[in-house]
Amino acid sequence: MKQSVSKARPLPSISLADVGGIQGEMKEEIMQTLSTLKDPERSLKLGVKPPKGILLYGPPGTGKTLLAQAIAKELGATFFSTSGSAFNEMFVGVGASRVRTLFQNARKQKPAVIFIDEVDALAGKRKQHGGEESEKTLTELLVQLDGGHSNDDILFIAATNRKDMLDDAFLRPGRIDFTFNVPLPDTKGRKEIIEIHTKNRILADNVWNSLDELAESTSGFSGADLHSLFETASRRAVRNEKEMISKEDLDFALDRTILGSTTRTLQNQ
Ligand code: ATP
Repeated sequence: MKQSVSKARPLPSISLADVGGIQGEMKEEIMQTLSTLKDPERSLKLGVKPPKGILLYGPPGTGKTLLAQAIAKELGATFFSTSGSAFNEMFVGVGASRVRTLFQNARKQKPAVIFIDEVDALAGKRKQHGGEESEKTLTELLVQLDGGHSNDDILFIAATNRKDMLDDAFLRPGRIDFTFNVPLPDTKGRKEIIEIHTKNRILADNVWNSLDELAESTSGFSGADLHSLFETASRRAVRNEKEMISKEDLDFALDRTILGSTTRTLQNQ
């Protein structure tokens, strides 16, 4: 049976406004990159080559997938999304064939963005990666990334929490042209993310009034933690048949989220 490794979505509904905490230099670089991709001919006339591949790296839950979706939406591109681990196969040639199929499908639906999350599972350093099969799969990825004109109007975006694990050949310019660090958000970034995740929720007045304080007190929280915080608070309000999120719901959710992230940290130690 032929297995599909990627999900193609015609146009992601996520836009750049849904990604909080992208500020300063990074925002400027992303906007510049997008403008070269939107009008490659004009950029080429000015001697600027549009990027073929972008790497997003940073801790889990900081919005790398969200950002890739937003970039695809800005470009009006079909979004092909998969994970590096989907290519790990023990059967001969299956991983490499999946890589080929992914690129072939994207070429049929240009403009396209190919997004591979956890790319370290596919493009890890060859010596550490181990196994002839994984090496063949990585080689196929490099071949596909070097596809020349057949890759026009295709942007490759990879994401990882472990940039140090990636093979140098994969990171070579022409394959990966830009690398963006997507760190944990600072207070200002957390405030933006909180605004995004409270936009469509009904909050009690004292919760609204405590959002600045919440942004300040949640150092170390990722965007995913903040999303989960409001999801948990909303669920508690619904469970208690309330019409809005109260301060008690938020405090309950905060305890839950802190407990959850402490457990994750302990498990990873
Ligand atoms: P991983 O490294 O684990 O794959 P990631 O960096 O790709 O994580 P996402 O999958 O984009 O993180 O984030 C998960 C969810 O957390 C998002 O769908 C969104 O609800 C929320 N989120 C994370 N980061 C942000 C952000 N910067 N702005 C707004 N929401 C965010």
